Amino acid sequence: MNKRNNIRAFINCNIIDGKFEKDKDTVRKGTILVETADGKGKIKFVGNKDEVSIPNNCKIVDLKDKYVLPGLINAHAHLFGDGSPTSPEQLKRTPDENLEYMKSSLGKHLIKETMKKNAMAALHAGVTTFRSVGDPFYYDIEVKNEIKNSPEVGPTMLCAGPMICITGGHGYKFISQAIDSPWEGRKKVREHIYNGTDLIKIANTGGVTDSKKIGEAGRAQMTYDEIAAICDEAHRAGYLVASHCQSTKGLKEALRAGVDTIEHGAEMDDEVISLFKHNPRSLRGYSSLAPTFLTIYYILGLSTKYTKLTDIQFANGKIIEKRMSSGFKTALKNGIRTALGTDAAMPYVTHYGTWKELKLHVRDGGTTNRQAIMHATKSNSEILGIDKEVGTLESGKYADFIVVDGDPIENLNYLGSPYMVVKNGQIVKKTDDYIIPEIENMIKKLDKEM
Ligand SMILES: [Zn+2]
Repeated sequence: MNKRNNIRAFINCNIIDGKFEKDKDTVRKGTILVETADGKGKIKFVGNKDEVSIPNNCKIVDLKDKYVLPGLINAHAHLFGDGSPTSPEQLKRTPDENLEYMKSSLGKHLIKETMKKNAMAALHAGVTTFRSVGDPFYYDIEVKNEIKNSPEVGPTMLCAGPMICITGGHGYKFISQAIDSPWEGRKKVREHIYNGTDLIKIANTGGVTDSKKIGEAGRAQMTYDEIAAICDEAHRAGYLVASHCQSTKGLKEALRAGVDTIEHGAEMDDEVISLFKHNPRSLRGYSSLAPTFLTIYYILGLSTKYTKLTDIQFANGKIIEKRMSSGFKTALKNGIRTALGTDAAMPYVTHYGTWKELKLHVRDGGTTNRQAIMHATKSNSEILGIDKEVGTLESGKYADFIVVDGDPIENLNYLGSPYMVVKNGQIVKKTDDYIIPEIENMIKKLDKEM
């Protein structure tokens, strides 16, 4: 309340505003004016320096001809893990023992510490907004509130709380809570909303990392009636539903039932394509695809000795990789809205490595660098329903941006180590504290081959 309004001018930069409207992407000799009131910094002006006069007494930050672009958004992350493979202690526990551990005060404390660290690691790497799509209990929401109430600036977090699955389904007794009928589904949605989630995440098919049989990843688990009840209940309250979904059958059931974002994805036929583009049961009349390539890249690129996955999980990973890239290519060809997410927390997928997913959109989907940047910024903001606040650099939106040494449209590697991260108009203190050397050593070679 006592913080007075103040204006800061970021000058002398090349601005990629993220609107991607014309061929002319970059504003040369740019200036960004940011007005901060009560800790919230909003963009007051963005454009060429000749179009604005810098107010007196305003703080000036000279960006030395570097490049500015909107802060990255990660549409698919989990906070519970930092990318380290499952520890030997955890591997020894039964699912029930693990649940007990996560519920214990020590377990909860340690998990929440990791979650907080991961959120800040993302921010320091330029991820100014992310969506956590499945974490134990409601710890993600607790962490979000603790970060919000701390004096240090934190990322914007959209939290799903625990994923909703069926008994024995994907994430069961870990990051998911089970329902076994449409009405149980409705009740779980009501509980989630009561507990402060920002969206609903379900698993309508099986997944790779807890599969015990070949073919389990992508097997349709939740029934159409259960998915439809969950979507209806969520949409009544204005909440979006995201679904972990890795087969064509799963896609059909999820989309027909009204799921808003398909996470990961699979091969699409004509019905699936048309449901994505026009989905009468979805919240906004269309659905979007959020593939996650980084996870599968490391799972398939590293030996199971290092990922701590079983041979069956590795084999399922191979199946899913094919499906996911097929789905992504079809989506791009048919103008289906596409998000960008990493599945951070999976083996070797760090929260500070989000930028690498952009390289995989280029590699696996054949997008341009420009399009990959758009997926991570503007498209993500629209798909997540936060495009009035973030996603592009425009007057009236939050001043969330990153400053990098060279033109990321020319070379995405510039995103790997931002010169500066600005969140809500505040400059985030630069640190390498979040880098995990054990992980970096293991993936060095794979990262070079991207
Ligand atoms: Zn996930």
